[in-house]
Amino acid sequence: LAPPQPTPIVVFDKVTKSYGSFTAIKDVSFRIDDHPGRGEMVPILGPSGCGKSTVIRLIAGLAPQFPQTSGTVLVGGQIVKGPGADRGMVFQDYTSFDHRTVLENIAFGLECRGVGKKERLDRAMVWLGKVGLSPKKDADKYPSELSGGMRQRVAIARTLILEPKIILMDEPFGALDPPTRARMQDLLIELWREQSPTVFFITHSVEEAVYLGDHVLIFSSSPGTILKEVKVAPPEKPAKEMQRDPAFQETVFGIKEIIENLESSQRSGD
Ligand code: ADP
Ligand code: MG
Repeated sequence: LAPPQPTPIVVFDKVTKSYGSFTAIKDVSFRIDDHPGRGEMVPILGPSGCGKSTVIRLIAGLAPQFPQTSGTVLVGGQIVKGPGADRGMVFQDYTSFDHRTVLENIAFGLECRGVGKKERLDRAMVWLGKVGLSPKKDADKYPSELSGGMRQRVAIARTLILEPKIILMDEPFGALDPPTRARMQDLLIELWREQSPTVFFITHSVEEAVYLGDHVLIFSSSPGTILKEVKVAPPEKPAKEMQRDPAFQETVFGIKEIIENLESSQRSGD
């Protein structure tokens, strides 16, 4: 018997996005398989302006990146028609509602889904704890009273409480200091193991991509195309220890070399 074919969860087929006469991404094709009970981490690496946000927002179905100019974007085998409950987005800039408390922010998506007040606040309290905030001290605070790392915990809880099958993160830890960033990476892995969604995340850190990633997508500069896909082993150790592992360092070095070669071949006009 042939092994069962994995079903794709996200497929790009020759996707091009132009803004007027400017082409941001051109003929981007890739396929990420669904791994029920395991999920996959898909880091997106590439220079600024190469179309990483465009790719993620096309998956999310968010304008003005959505819709693409040509090509096909499939999520769960269906053509993307706009945002949906199967996809959740975490932005870099800690999007939260300033006039809502931490707890109310985390409960927001459930409120949109019509979940009653008691149930949604109870569930939000569970999530507040899961992302390492204090139910006693932090629940009633307002976003302005939180540090960057705490606000990003709220943003992650707000998305994960809805248990989307696909999580889209646009440079989610880019604004955090390195120790906070390492803690957030470990938190993300812990939560990911629990829910096993497919996570796409944009990062400028090759270390972060290799640490968190299963299937790394590397983009060229504009117009963005996929230059290389690299599969890496899932993380086994905390971020801080992993950084010292020789096999880890070798993979990081290999990807950095790919990116440097891309950049120098682009400079010489190949
Ligand atoms: P990245 O996230 O990799 O930095 P983006 O996907 O945000 O790149 O953008 C890719 C290119 O498309 C950039 O050159 C950017 O200036 C351009 N771009 C993005 N959004 C728009 C828009 N709404 N109108 C015009 N150009 C845009
Ligand atoms: Mg971007």
